[in-house]
Amino acid sequence: MTDSYRALVVDRKEDGVAAEIRTLTEADLPEGDVTVRVDYSCLNYKDGLALTGRAPIIRRPPMTAGIDFAGTVESSESPDFAPGQAVVLTGWGVGERHPGGFAQRARVPARMLQPLPEGCDTRWAMAIGTAGFTAMLCVIALERAGVAAGAGPVVVTGAAGGVGSVSVALLSRLGYEVVAISGRPECRDYLTGLGASEVLPRGKRAEAPEKPLLSEHWAGAVDSVGGAMLAHVLAETRYGGAVAACGLAGGPGLKTTVMPFILRGVSLIGIDSVMCPAAPRSEAWQRLARDLPRDALDAMTEVVPLDQVVARGNDILGGGVRGRVVVDVNA
Ligand code: NDP
Repeated sequence: MTDSYRALVVDRKEDGVAAEIRTLTEADLPEGDVTVRVDYSCLNYKDGLALTGRAPIIRRPPMTAGIDFAGTVESSESPDFAPGQAVVLTGWGVGERHPGGFAQRARVPARMLQPLPEGCDTRWAMAIGTAGFTAMLCVIALERAGVAAGAGPVVVTGAAGGVGSVSVALLSRLGYEVVAISGRPECRDYLTGLGASEVLPRGKRAEAPEKPLLSEHWAGAVDSVGGAMLAHVLAETRYGGAVAACGLAGGPGLKTTVMPFILRGVSLIGIDSVMCPAAPRSEAWQRLARDLPRDALDAMTEVVPLDQVVARGNDILGGGVRGRVVVDVNA
């Protein structure tokens, strides 16, 4: 195996950023005690922000982008990992402050790596990636808040996106009645195929709610959209329900009132995947291996080579990616 490897590097330019595939060498790898031969990475909303420069995700340009990767340990100075072991990494500031996963090799501190669950491979791990891992964290949060299957409909916003698609498939497998909200009518069959019992358009939920409390619909919610959509979902959540909020695809603002919280006992639960500690991280990966149907994951996943990542990064910011995009860094 040669010393050099290909990587998608983002650099700062006068009028924004530029991303290009470069050939790097061992000397370009950062400090860290585990070196990984990367099989796959994947595309997340944050990668789209990094590749286009729409947000200052890449803190130290020029730097390899990509917030996730999965591969095989090549060498390790850590007792926790051995050469040949399959590992996955999501978050921890990789692809932000630490060179990322859109590369054939990566080197990171061992504490950032997760062994793959039994019977799971690196392509599976990147079909899930940060988006799917976050969906699992949202579902676990709803369970802990007492939202049980059979309690009533659980709504998933941004349903045809990455977090949304995995959330729909997970909740459906766990026996919940899932209502998907999607701005893409052409994704109706796709979402019912993943297990949604109903697919609603964004409709009036794309605008601020007209009243602080609306008719009670949802026992729970997974929201990756934020903004007016989240305000609407809160106003429509049933007495004692819970909303797991993880995203801002529709905007970072949140104009709401305290009424859902103080009159209906609704809980708003914040979800972060990046700095999620080791124990809940491990639990979520084990749950994904158990609860996410493989056929649903395959149905929501496309695989692209490294040279298509920039184009797909533009697509994801425009709401034009359905489900998950796995990146074959060796293709
Ligand atoms: P995707 O682009 O795959 O999904 C987002 C979906 O949101 C789109 O597919 C679309 O779904 C919907 N959407 C997009 N724009 C709008 C809009 N203007 N108004 C309403 N709905 C919109 O991204 P991901 O699933 O990867 O990420 C979703 C969000 O979650 C992002 O904001 C991301 O940053 C965040 N996130 C946060 C994490 C955390 O740790 N907290 C981790 C992972 C993601 P449709 O067409 O079906 O309506």
